[in-house]
Amino acid sequence: MAIVINNLRHTYMVGSPYEKNALIDINININDGESVGIIGHTGSGKSTLVQHLNGILMPVSGSININGIDVNKKNMKEIRKQVGLVFQYPEHQLFEETVFKDIGYGLSKQGYEGKTVEEKILQTINIIGLDKNLLEKSPFRLSGGEKRKVAIAGVLAMKPKVLILDEPGAGLDPKGRDEIYDAVVKFKKENNATIILVSHSMEDLARYVDRIIVLNRGRIEMDGTVAEVFKNDELLKNIGLSVPQITCFMRLLKKKLPELNSDVFTVKEA
Ligand code: ADP
Repeated sequence: MAIVINNLRHTYMVGSPYEKNALIDINININDGESVGIIGHTGSGKSTLVQHLNGILMPVSGSININGIDVNKKNMKEIRKQVGLVFQYPEHQLFEETVFKDIGYGLSKQGYEGKTVEEKILQTINIIGLDKNLLEKSPFRLSGGEKRKVAIAGVLAMKPKVLILDEPGAGLDPKGRDEIYDAVVKFKKENNATIILVSHSMEDLARYVDRIIVLNRGRIEMDGTVAEVFKNDELLKNIGLSVPQITCFMRLLKKKLPELNSDVFTVKEA
């Protein structure tokens, strides 16, 4: 099992008037190589949950185990090797003088040197679709889509067994978005990685994950296959989508993903 979460709870600002239960009784098992989407309103607990998976937040109540390793202070180094987290707008964290150094930053922190770093960087730019000529350029001189690729490449280069992406396509044009997702699919195939994708785009989720976990006010509202979750239009309304949005999405989904075109996609007209 890649990820086992047992009875995870998280409360912010304990004991203050602003105390907030951000996660309540979270139980999730994710298999090796599974692709799982997480959706939910703003404030439903998505980012609190993913921050627990690479130890930015430590479980205070409940437990998390990644590939046999418990998430706790003692195991931090090992956990960070297993789990790669791509934040929203990850290009905001670029800081090195060259693309090469930026992609290689995490690798050198993990103790890789010289030729090995170079080989890993070359493999990664091949997956993400970045031109070799860009390696000696400043990341700040690249286009928005290229910057995003450099930032994601820095995570992929470390070959995490679990890759978590928070809205990786946000703010990109459709071509840029497709390129990022194509790279994630390729990376997953080559490494049998487990993928967790946080996204508001139901189309992206339908396309790239097999299973969806719906969070609502810190609790798991639903955990099922894409078809099971999307047939539940009451639930989709609860997470903030209007009936016309759902109807329009279902039509799109039927057209684009005929393999999902079964009875479960019967749409009530708006
Ligand atoms: P999402 O990622 O789904 O938008 P979050 O995990 O960011 O949700 O937030 C869950 C809840 O916890 C929200 O009510 C939010 O206001 C609260 N919260 C998040 N981060 C903090 C923090 N650092 N301090 C206090 N409350 C927080």
